[in-house]
Amino acid sequence: MKTTILGYPRIGSQRELKKACEAFWSGKTDKDELLKIASELKKQNWKQQQHLGIDLIPSNDFSFYDQVLDASLTFGCIPKRYQDFDKNNFLELYFAMARGHQKDNKDVTAMEMTKWFDTNYHYIVPEFEKNQHFEFFSKKVVEEYKEALALGIKTKPVLMGPVTFLLLGKEKETGFHKLDLLDKLLPVYYEIITELTNLDVEYIQFDEPCLALNLSQKEREAITTTYKTFHTKFPKLKIYLANYFDCYGENLDMALQLPVDTLHLDLVRCPSQLDDILQSKHYNPKTKLALGLIDGRNIWKNDFEASLKIIKKVTNTINPENLWISASCSLLHTPYDLDLEINLPNEIKQWLAFAKQKLEEITTLKALSSSDNESYLSLFEENKLANLTRKNSKLIHNQLVKERISNLKDADSRRENNFSIRQATQKAALNLPLYPTTTIGSFPQTKEVRSWRLNHKKGILSQEEYNALIAKEIEDSIRFQEDIGLDVLVHGEFERNDMVEYFGEKLNGFAFSAYGWVQSYGSRCVKPPILFGDVSREKPMTVAWSTYAQSLTNIPVKGMLTGPVTILQWSFVRNDQPRATTCNQIALAIRDEVVDLEKNGLKIIQIDEPAIREGLPLRKEDWNHYLNWAVKAFRISASGVKDETQIHTHMCYSEFNDIISNIADMDADVITIETSRSEMELLDAFVNFQYPNEIGPGVYDIHSPRIPTLEEIEALLMKASNVLPNQHIWVNPDCGLKTRDWPETKEALKNLVKAASNLRKKE
Ligand code: GLN
Ligand code: ZN
Repeated sequence: MKTTILGYPRIGSQRELKKACEAFWSGKTDKDELLKIASELKKQNWKQQQHLGIDLIPSNDFSFYDQVLDASLTFGCIPKRYQDFDKNNFLELYFAMARGHQKDNKDVTAMEMTKWFDTNYHYIVPEFEKNQHFEFFSKKVVEEYKEALALGIKTKPVLMGPVTFLLLGKEKETGFHKLDLLDKLLPVYYEIITELTNLDVEYIQFDEPCLALNLSQKEREAITTTYKTFHTKFPKLKIYLANYFDCYGENLDMALQLPVDTLHLDLVRCPSQLDDILQSKHYNPKTKLALGLIDGRNIWKNDFEASLKIIKKVTNTINPENLWISASCSLLHTPYDLDLEINLPNEIKQWLAFAKQKLEEITTLKALSSSDNESYLSLFEENKLANLTRKNSKLIHNQLVKERISNLKDADSRRENNFSIRQATQKAALNLPLYPTTTIGSFPQTKEVRSWRLNHKKGILSQEEYNALIAKEIEDSIRFQEDIGLDVLVHGEFERNDMVEYFGEKLNGFAFSAYGWVQSYGSRCVKPPILFGDVSREKPMTVAWSTYAQSLTNIPVKGMLTGPVTILQWSFVRNDQPRATTCNQIALAIRDEVVDLEKNGLKIIQIDEPAIREGLPLRKEDWNHYLNWAVKAFRISASGVKDETQIHTHMCYSEFNDIISNIADMDADVITIETSRSEMELLDAFVNFQYPNEIGPGVYDIHSPRIPTLEEIEALLMKASNVLPNQHIWVNPDCGLKTRDWPETKEALKNLVKAASNLRKKE
């Protein structure tokens, strides 16, 4: 039996890569400095895995921004709008594709970004044209292999599999199907594999997580063709085929017949597939199985007893030499190291394992399944005890919360009247112009704002001093919004570190790490709260700042909350009860907050649910169950208020086509969505469905520092007003502005307000 993993976090345990990239982007450091820090991080990761006993260590799992963007560049899949970039200045081209570029007489937008399967990680969407040209352009996969080899480590290079790469991309013109490009793409893989095998590479890991989706016959055939061809052309190459995040499902029979060395199984998301495989007539006992037993998506300690049972069952049929012990998916989605957490309560800490501890779990499981060595047995006992304490802990169970959940009634998830009645009441109460303008909530979290929070935490700033600074920032932002003429204002969220963490810190049932960062997109990281127990709200969480903001102006200010599904989705969630139950607990806490905001005079309340879509199970057969409880939880949170209180929700980076009826079912009075990067394409779903409530399609991309021109915004607005009832349209950016700086924010919002006013004049 051997151990391996699919990938390791790369941002650095102290977010070194984030800092290095941002310093490079702002021109503070040069390329050499960035490359140096990157090499150091790669080296640390490889050495760490080696030290902890991982037998087969991956390479090319590192990335400066995103592994799918890396794949696009590896295959020379570079959209035409970047052709003026000097191909020898690789990093400039790379970051232009990732983030857009607006200097030295160049002005190009970034590539689209979307969520990686059902995670909160975002990847850069490959773009294809009909005559797409591919070539082996970026040699990163080869260079990283050599880099590790120079350190004495013979790695398993990781490549995005060709079918997944194509399926994740987007046709930028009509008249072809992306899968038709496979014939052109495969020769590039041959070239890459040839170079790698010339360097004596033994294993290559091909990531094909599309195997967790409901594939068509044509897509399945593409997989078969690909791996048969690889095997025919490179019979000595050991192909490690990685599927993760769900079952192989109906793709299993096909997968079992592929001429690959190893099939990787995510046994956390899909434990049942093991029996299916062991019983399948298609399973060839020569094919190695990688048992993804350690949860790569969550931070709970593994249950060694349960895992050993599984291993034992497998070794009854399969020679241990044909088994790998592994994590369910890449450890990219877990934080680095629990040892850094000195402030977590010990009772909770003993239930957890971060990436480094997961490496230890993998090697311990291997040891335990083959030896009775005393020291391993004590690790086993320790693990057993930790899991038992967790089950019975008083920290976790709250009887009052459990009762409230069991007393939930249908009426708790319904507003008083239907939307058309509410709309009339709200129009009268709010008296907003046509095409009302607003923002999504946050304003720039400048260095100063962040330093106040840090200094407050360190005790350098007292509570009063900190509050005074935040109050001043809120006042400035209200004045700015008034000055430029926005119709619905926000307080700016300056007091919030993060839209989920902020609420988690105020609710019971959550714990917080100090360094539990996980990459979200590019250099952006999030620190998901650890949702370990029953959730309840002790006292109001946002009322003070929201009412303060409203007291400064006669223009309506939106109360700003994070919705239950998003809080759930962006936390590390307990795995000892159904997610639906945990979600309802959060929904009740948010509902209480919504009601309190209304009581305190807030006429508009936004409940952000950007994560609804990403929570969708990967397999369609599981969708209804999820959507039912998720929509219901949102409705529970939103339905405690009177008709005239306007409930907004906001979503970004979502495809809506296949869930639009459920989105409508959420019954928010207004929904604001991200649409600008896709040129309003994402709006189609709402138009085709004749979405009944009001809607604010984002008119500019906030993930790029580039200032949208008045004409661009007007053009997007015209597009929207051509297809939506004018009475239903709101004008807003794609998302919150916390990652932006004030100068660009001000210019952009002035253009936005002007565009709305120009459009009104046309009426
Ligand atoms: N209200 C939040 C903000 O503006 C919404 C963020 C999000 O959708 N991701 O920051
Ligand atoms: Zn958003």
